[in-house]
Amino acid sequence: MLRRVLISAAAAASLLVLGVPPAAHAADGIRTPSKPSYTVTLSSNTSGTTWTGHESVTFTNASADPLTEVYLRLWDNAHGSCPSTPITVTNVTGGTPSALSAGCTAMKITLPAALAQNQSASVGFDLSIVVPSGADRFGRDGSYNFVGNALPVLAVRDASGWHLDPYTNNGESFYALISDYDVTLDHPTSLLVPATGTSVDTPGASGRTVTRATAKNVREFAWGAGPFTKTTSTTTTGVTVNVYRVSSISSSSASSMMTTAKNALVAHAGRFGAFPYAEVDVVLDNNFWFGGMEYPGFVLDVISSTALAHELAHQWWYGIVGDDEYTSPWLDESFADYATDLYNGLSGTNCWNSVSWQSSAEKITNSMAYWDAHPSRYSTVVYGYGKCALHDLRRAIGTTAMENLLRNYAAAHWYGVSTTADFKAAAQAATSADLSSFWTTHRIDG
Ligand SMILES: [Zn+2]
Repeated sequence: MLRRVLISAAAAASLLVLGVPPAAHAADGIRTPSKPSYTVTLSSNTSGTTWTGHESVTFTNASADPLTEVYLRLWDNAHGSCPSTPITVTNVTGGTPSALSAGCTAMKITLPAALAQNQSASVGFDLSIVVPSGADRFGRDGSYNFVGNALPVLAVRDASGWHLDPYTNNGESFYALISDYDVTLDHPTSLLVPATGTSVDTPGASGRTVTRATAKNVREFAWGAGPFTKTTSTTTTGVTVNVYRVSSISSSSASSMMTTAKNALVAHAGRFGAFPYAEVDVVLDNNFWFGGMEYPGFVLDVISSTALAHELAHQWWYGIVGDDEYTSPWLDESFADYATDLYNGLSGTNCWNSVSWQSSAEKITNSMAYWDAHPSRYSTVVYGYGKCALHDLRRAIGTTAMENLLRNYAAAHWYGVSTTADFKAAAQAATSADLSSFWTTHRIDG
C-alpha cells in the first residue's frame, strides 16, 4: 500500500494562512474523491470484442486535505502483460497523466490546481477496451463478451492514503465510493447488451442499436455483449429481473435461475433493507471458471441457485454497503455467504466444530495480500469460517438482535463504506453481552 503523498508547499502555505496546521489534515482520513459521476460513450466492433470512445468523470474533494491528484484504476490491465494491455487511456484532459503504475492498473493524473474541500473537478480521456479470450469476468466465451471492471474508475484516498492495491484473481480488490453512471453503448443490433443500471435502447446507424444505461448510487459498471437469449420477469416487490443466457443453457435452467433470482432478491431485501434499484441483469454461462461474479445490478453466474443467491446478496454486501475488498474481503464474502445460508434455510449448526486453523496468522479478517499468499485457504476461512462466525454471533446475541443488527448496520452504511471496526461496534451495541472473547475466538480483528 502506498502512503499518502505530501501536500504541495503552496497548499500547505494556504492552510497555514488559515491557521490550521497541515499535520491535522494529514490524519483527516475522509474518503475522497467523492460523488464520482461518470459519463461514457463507447462503440463496439461487429463482435463486441473491442469498444472505443470517451469517458469523463466529475468528482468532489470531500476531505479537508487538498486533492492534488487522482488515480484511475485500470483493473483489467491485470489481464494483459504490462505494458501490453487491454485497456488504453489516451488524450487525458483535466490533468496531467503519469506513466502507468501498479502493474499497469493505475494511472496518476495530477490536477492543474489542488482541490480544496468541497471543490469539484473533472478529468476525461479517450478509452479503448479489447476483451481477451476466456470465459471470465473480463473475457470472451465464443461469441459472448463479459466486460467487468473495464471502465477506469477513481481510486480512493482515505486514512491509509491512496489505495493502489494490486488486482487479485482469487477474489476482489475493488474499492470504490458510491457513484453515478451514464453509459451509452453503440453496438450491432444482433448483440444484446445486459448492463448495470436501467437501459433504454434506440436505433443507431444501419444494423446498430444504441443502449443507454443509467445507474445512480452504484460502485461499478459492467456489461456484456452477445447473441444472448433474454427473459424478463418482475419480483413481488417490483424489481425487473432480466435473465440472459448463452445458447448452451436451456430455457428450463434459465427459468429455474429466474425463480431463484426473484426469490433471493425479495428474501435479502426483507433481511437487509429494500432493494433500491429498478433492475437486475443475471447473465448465465456454465463455462465460467468461477461460480459467479457480482457487479451492481449485473451478475455473472453458472447454473447454481446457491451461487446466484450469493452474488445477489453482494448487491447489499459490497454494493449498497461498501467495503475495501482488498483489505477486508470478509466484510462482503462472509456476509454474502451468511445471507445465502439464511436464504437456503441453513443455520450453521455446529459449524464451528469443524474449524481448524492452519496457523496463528490465519484470521477471518485477513486481507487479500494474505489470501493471495495462501490461496488454498481463502474460501475455507473467509467464506466458510466467516459465515459460521456470523451464525455463531446470531446464537450469541439472539436471532432478533442479529436481524436488527444487520438491518441497522446496513442502514447506517447505506451507499457508504463499512470497516471491520464499524461492524464490531454495531454488533457490540446490539447486545448487553461482552463480545470481546467472541471476536478473539473467531479471529475477527480490527
Ligand atoms: Zn462473493
